[in-house]
Amino acid sequence: MLTTVGFTQLAETVIARCRKVATFSEDAGGTRRTFLSTSMHDCHREVSSWMKALGMSVSVDAVGNLRGFYPGVSPGVPRILVGSHLDTVPNAGAFDGILGVVLAIGLVESLEGMKLPFGIEVVGFSEEEGVRFGVPFIGSRALVGRVDDELLDRKDERGISVRKAIQDFGLNPNEISKAVLRDDVLGYIEFHIEQGPVLENLGRPLGAVEAIVGQNRLEFTFSGQANHAGTTPMNLRHDALAAAAEWILAVESLAQSTPGIVATVGFVEARPGATNVIAGEARATLDIRHASDGARTEALDELIRHAESIAARRGVTVKWRTLLAQHAVAMDPFLTERRRRESARVRTAFADAACGFAGISGKDVRCIISVKRAALINAITCYSLPILLCAPLCPA
Ligand SMILES: [Zn+2]
Repeated sequence: MLTTVGFTQLAETVIARCRKVATFSEDAGGTRRTFLSTSMHDCHREVSSWMKALGMSVSVDAVGNLRGFYPGVSPGVPRILVGSHLDTVPNAGAFDGILGVVLAIGLVESLEGMKLPFGIEVVGFSEEEGVRFGVPFIGSRALVGRVDDELLDRKDERGISVRKAIQDFGLNPNEISKAVLRDDVLGYIEFHIEQGPVLENLGRPLGAVEAIVGQNRLEFTFSGQANHAGTTPMNLRHDALAAAAEWILAVESLAQSTPGIVATVGFVEARPGATNVIAGEARATLDIRHASDGARTEALDELIRHAESIAARRGVTVKWRTLLAQHAVAMDPFLTERRRRESARVRTAFADAACGFAGISGKDVRCIISVKRAALINAITCYSLPILLCAPLCPA
């Protein structure tokens, strides 16, 4: 077992490795590494070399997931998956996704050759962000057998299909079924950099995520009467934009007064959109999220009622349509609780994890948990590495 000094050095290595991988990019001066891009080859080469140096066997499956295996104490023992994604959004930070992969390798390194009653498979997912093909989680979908012909025929903006991109990368799309998880997988644990300010605000390095929030995205259209800004008295107006504005404030107010809800109107458009014309139509989007489906649905219903009553009072109409509806996904209570308990046990040396933490939507863990038990740990520092090691990875 490593000493505290050893862990600190290892954590610094993890950070340096993340920064190194950030230089493998399609863009000069920023990090952009999309699904099966040329820079992903460089990323694979580098990350593979770290895994091979630890005696891990490394392979790339047919959708481009990088998979390194560290065997257990004897052949035939089950395995646990630890990983995250290798692809990025344009202009990405140095830790999104890659931290979870490099931390997993650090975890294996910290074992110093010791074999556990289970093997560890480190997975670097090829695709999580959905940047290239507009569909996220292509990497983790392959592990749960959810890559179909429709997905393979999807094209990027240059007209290249997923199938062709796989071939161009040197892989065989006919072998995708071999990527599916086998029965020997006990579960999946993902470490991910926190993408919000909560942990930093709490002064804690780790958060055990209890659920990936569910979310709805809708578009509301308020329709009133376009008219001249100079000749239409205030009491004879049916201003669609003013109605939308009142509703936007109602959205903020409801979210502020309802624990756990986050709601955002991130897009507004007024028509005809002239300085001297009262808006006849206003479109506004709504993004609403909560870890509980019931609380989210209740809040959404309330916001729809608000929109209707505001519109009615102002003599305008309102319609809405759903763009996305995604239910919340609870993480595996056993895996989550063990990590939280262990982090509390070593809290004298390392700060504890936050409780009752809700993750943002997305994440490969959403896919994997459909077939295996899974947990998500949000991190803001690598110096919490010992917590990850101390918490038994295996549910058995
Ligand atoms: Zn990510």
